[in-house]
Amino acid sequence: MAHRVAVVGAGYAGMAAAVTLAGRGIRVAVFESGPIPGGRARRVVSQGTELDNGQHILIGAYTELWRIMRAVGVPEDAVLRLPLEIRYAQGFHFRALWLPAPLGLLGGLAIATGISCNERLGAARFMSSLRRNGFSVDQDIPVTELLERHGQNGRIGHFLWRPLCVSALNTPAGQASSRVFLRVLRDALDGPPGSSDLLLPRVDLSRLFPEPAAEFVRAHGGEVRLGAPVRDLASLKGEYDSVIVAVGPHQLQALLPDLAPDYAYQPIYTIYLQYPETVRLPFPMLGLADGLVQWVFDRGALTGEKGRIACVISAQGDHQQMQQEELAATCERELARALTGLPRPLWSRVIAEKRATVACVPGTKRPALEAGVPGVYFAGDYTDPDYPPTLEAAVRSGVRAAQRCLG
Ligand SMILES: Cc1cc2nc3c(=O)[nH]c(=O)nc-3n(C[C@H](O)[C@H](O)[C@H](O)COP(=O)(O)OP(=O)(O)OC[C@H]3O[C@@H](n4cnc5c(N)ncnc54)[C@H](O)[C@@H]3O)c2cc1C
Repeated sequence: MAHRVAVVGAGYAGMAAAVTLAGRGIRVAVFESGPIPGGRARRVVSQGTELDNGQHILIGAYTELWRIMRAVGVPEDAVLRLPLEIRYAQGFHFRALWLPAPLGLLGGLAIATGISCNERLGAARFMSSLRRNGFSVDQDIPVTELLERHGQNGRIGHFLWRPLCVSALNTPAGQASSRVFLRVLRDALDGPPGSSDLLLPRVDLSRLFPEPAAEFVRAHGGEVRLGAPVRDLASLKGEYDSVIVAVGPHQLQALLPDLAPDYAYQPIYTIYLQYPETVRLPFPMLGLADGLVQWVFDRGALTGEKGRIACVISAQGDHQQMQQEELAATCERELARALTGLPRPLWSRVIAEKRATVACVPGTKRPALEAGVPGVYFAGDYTDPDYPPTLEAAVRSGVRAAQRCLG
């Protein structure tokens, strides 16, 4: 069992590892190169305004994230819990019912609007077939191919399955791994009641877990050093029994050049439009199906940032070629088309996370927990063998690496 552990990176993975170790009485030191903990899910300050680096959506099936948030004292009301509801500004509306699986989904399909009876039945048959096969596929094929095989590429694919895929895997459905997609569907749609619920943060992403986690670590005798980049792992090896490397996959190259895998990445853009304070969306989260913007969030309803709308564009697309002003203007136009009577925004900010996550495509290899260097372990969203790169995957990986150090 390691007695002194260094964790490199204070993202959700690194902080989950540190909390697990500190809670077991291990002396842990976290080294974070940035000024704020959180990594790819953090608070940023842009021209004097605090924003999240990207709007995040969580689901009830993120059990390890909820467990560890509770462990460090994050209150329940730090997130707004809503039943899974996919509501577009125009047309399709689906809301899962709060019933045991599969009734929640089937009941939701039965009362969904904007799809035909045949599509409802087809979707119910698709779910039954997935359940019969244990949500697994013999061969990992792209999600669109899976949908095609089950006759799900029509309106139901456009409004339900493909948006779910892009949101969960951050990879276009034409490239995304059906194996990973089905794992998410199994956990979210076939789990205990509440698994498919949407949980929207009501505090910024650093306050949601990494900062309370840092307080927990310090209160248990550990250290969290911000603005402290690790340039060379060898410098830590003398002082610590084990090192957990919890940096982003694109940051590995600098630390372990020989071991860094060569991944493909997918972007996520968040475009904030600040309207006058009286502007509100009819719902905290709304889908837009016919342009660049996929989801819009009412930050006033969520975090009290009145009049602020966050527009999210996940995965690759034409928007990557646009200048920021052009992109913000496009979002403004798409919102104005969907919601009549909107005034002009007062300002806008575009936050482009170009390497938001690794692409989740068939055949992607995940690194082993052991880095191949004695006493060095990997943690991070890209290492989870089962899950797409998400906060849940990050937390699970951190807990796993910590448990490995505990022996
Ligand atoms: C815009 C956006 C939207 C997203 N939306 C969602 C969503 O809706 N739901 C969801 O579940 N997930 C979402 N994700 C994915 C989620 O944010 C990531 O999966 C998760 O944050 C990854 O955490 P991590 O700890 O593995 O890595 P990171 O967050 O990348 O943490 C790595 C940390 O290591 C630090 N570091 C790197 N090198 C060094 C060094 N040499 N020394 C010291 N420190 C170092 C970095 O500064 C960073 O803080 C989104 C991501 C983005 C970018």
